Amino acid sequence: MTMLTDQPNETTPEYVLCSRKTQPHDTIINAGNNLLIGKKDQPCIIAGPCAVESYEQLNIIAGKLTDIGIKFFRAGAYKPRTSPYSFQGLKSKGLEYLFKIKEKYGLKIVTEVMSIDKLDEVSDVADILQVGSRNMYNYPLLEFLGQQSQKPILLKRGMSAKMKEFLLSAEYILHNGNKNVILCERGITTFENATRNTLDLNVVPHLKQKSHLPVFVDPSHGTGIRSLVVPMSMAALACGADGLEIEVHHDPKEALCDGNQSITPEELNELLLKMAYLNPLAKKNIKEQDKIPC
Ligand code: PEP
Ligand code: MN
Repeated sequence: MTMLTDQPNETTPEYVLCSRKTQPHDTIINAGNNLLIGKKDQPCIIAGPCAVESYEQLNIIAGKLTDIGIKFFRAGAYKPRTSPYSFQGLKSKGLEYLFKIKEKYGLKIVTEVMSIDKLDEVSDVADILQVGSRNMYNYPLLEFLGQQSQKPILLKRGMSAKMKEFLLSAEYILHNGNKNVILCERGITTFENATRNTLDLNVVPHLKQKSHLPVFVDPSHGTGIRSLVVPMSMAALACGADGLEIEVHHDPKEALCDGNQSITPEELNELLLKMAYLNPLAKKNIKEQDKIPC
């Protein structure tokens, strides 16, 4: 069988800084305005379209998400696409639109930084810097982020990365000075092709046992199929995920990117109500404030 990556072996040094042996208590990240990530029983939802398509598109989606209590808004301005012929994102213009949305709604912005030279530009807008699956192995980028930024980093698992490689990539960021790392499982490549990826939920409790870092799940890329997003979100929370990153579009059929796996704001609201049954604390909060904690 062809190995997709150079896998760690018994001589590869272990991760230390992200290990629970080094820090037994959970890392809790303050994303600003007292929005805490990684706090037990307070799952965070990051929601929004795969890509920035236009200001109008962001405005519609952000308005609907704000109405249902979402605090973290995701959208890619720089998009890593498998084909160079696919929509590549609006880049600087996309960041400008995201900045306007941030000002208008007070949402925290999660957007991807793909390369070292774009860190300053992306940081002017992002509250959380996303490192995509394709860049989990980009060690110079991870080192640079560790050295140059104290913003939370949402590190997505490489699509063929073993758990140890994933943790070692997080270790690169911690080792270089930024302790605010969120791990995000987003599905791995397996022989199964009925779904876009295989969402590896084993890794959620396993990562929580081995590491003190918050663990998120992205059921959108993990499944690639809209109708699977809500059930796999529930499954992710049931096995201990600290949060979810979900692609949401007001008109998924017209989305320029990943429409097949995007749910609508109304479907996300149904998920929030279902979540209340998993978590009595959230249920109480929803009743009192018609909102989830963060
Ligand atoms: C995304 O979140 O839109 C994305 C490209 O994710 P991933 O890096 O996990 O493929
Ligand atoms: Mn996407």
